[in-house]
Order: sequence, then structure tokens, then C-alpha cells
Amino acid sequence: MRFDVLTIFPDMFSAYLRDGIAGRAVKRGLLDVRLVNIRDFARGAHKTTDDRPYGGGDGMVMRPGPISRALGSIERNSRGSLVILLTPQGETFNQSIAWDISSLEQVILVCGRYEGVDERIRLLFVDREISIGDYVLSGGELAAMVIMDSVCRLIPGTLGGEKSSFEDSFQDSLLEYPHYTRPRVFEGLEVPEILLSGDHARIRGWRRKEALKRTFERRPDLLAKAKLDDEDLRILEQIRSQTPACPPEAEADC
Ligand code: SAM
Repeated sequence: MRFDVLTIFPDMFSAYLRDGIAGRAVKRGLLDVRLVNIRDFARGAHKTTDDRPYGGGDGMVMRPGPISRALGSIERNSRGSLVILLTPQGETFNQSIAWDISSLEQVILVCGRYEGVDERIRLLFVDREISIGDYVLSGGELAAMVIMDSVCRLIPGTLGGEKSSFEDSFQDSLLEYPHYTRPRVFEGLEVPEILLSGDHARIRGWRRKEALKRTFERRPDLLAKAKLDDEDLRILEQIRSQTPACPPEAEADC
């Protein structure tokens, strides 16, 4: 899978693309990331990529010319490519969008800076607008890395067989079960006995129950979309019946 990233700060990506899962995916040729420096497409002695906003006001706006020329320089995959603008005004990124993107062969990410990019870039070239959450970053680079990182985990082979992304939170619309490693007792807290039993069927059952319990307690909204079998529904019913309708500490407000 290939990402072309348009940015005025390509160096921000070097550590990310060198280390960890993404670094390994790049080395193995599973992930191809091409950084396109928008400044290389700016004209004039100062190579400026931004200008003052028409209508006045604070801040600067990214000029359309350099971005449009940078986009034009990208070699497009004949089977299609998608241009994504990173913006706090886009649809909120989630695991399901990550899966959508992972099925594509080429994705072009446009990172804004300052007050954002000239509106005509959005109107002329952008296929999809994505936000990574309801907060404002100083630039799209971190958002681009968030998207590349979550998508890269879904490309077959990137996790190197040591872990499957299919058990991660949000697969199946459930949060993942809790994890433990050595030592067996830490600060007086013991690893649940069942995880030491070697009984894989019971361990699977325990993990499923913990995943259901976590999701019920923390993100009950996800359960409506989860694929649950009869046994899951029975477990959820049991969890529900053990959960006080009104927690003791909030009784006065109920
Ligand atoms: N003035 C813009 C607004 O209020 O909608 C915010 C511009 S922000 C300071 C600069 C750039 O950071 C944006 O163009 C976008 O590329 C990126 N950015 C900021 N917050 C983001 C978010 N939540 N998700 C994705 N990109 C974001």
C-alpha cells in the first residue's frame, strides 16, 4: 500500500517511518510512504506556501498553487487513488474508516498548517475529509501518522504474525480483554488463575467475557453494532444483572 503525504514538514515523519511496526512494514516493502514537500512546489525567491486571508483576520492560509502543483506531481495508481484532506472539520476517524482505507492501493494525504488550506483545494481535488478527533492540532502531520499507523496494522503481514489485529479493540465492535505478563504477582496483585491454567478453551471464554464486560462498562454504545452469539448475550445478561442500576456512591442522585 502506498501513501503520498503532502506536507511542509517532511522531517516530522522520519522517526515514525524508521521505527516500530511502520518502520518494519516499510523495510519489508509492505508500506510505501512518499513524502512530498509542498515547499518544493512554491514559486518566487522566498518559496512561500502561505498568505494572508482574503477578508482579513488572524493567521495565514496555505496557498492553493503549491498544493495543486504538488498533487499534480504525484504518479497516480491506474486502479485509483484517494485524496484525503486532514481537517478538524472532516468525518471523525475510526477503525471502520481505517479498514476502508486499507483496501486501497494509493492514498494521498494533504496536511494543512496555519488556518488551513485554501478552500479551492478542497473543492477541486479532495475526495474525503478526515478529522482524528474534536480538537485542533497545529498541523495535519500527526493526523496523517495516526491514519497511516492504524491502517498499516491492517495490511496483511505488517504485524509479523506476532499478533493479529483481529483481536484488537473495535474489531467486532468490542474493547479488548485485559493483558497480563510476568511477574505473576505485582505489588500484591495476582494474574488471574485461569490465564496460568494452560486450558486454551477456558482462557478464550474468559477473554471473551472480559471483553464483553469492558465494553459494557466503558463503551455500551458499541454493543449495538457488535456481532453477539447466544452465549455472548447470556454473559451480557449476567453482567447486567450484577451491575447495580444505581451505583452506591451515586444513590443520592438517582
Ligand atoms: N482553522 C482551522 C479550523 O478551525 O477548522 C484549523 C486549522 S489547524 C490549526 C491546521 C491544520 O491542522 C489543519 O489544516 C489540518 O490539516 C490539521 N488539523 C488540525 N486539527 C485536526 C484534526 N482534529 N484532525 C485532522 N487534522 C487536523
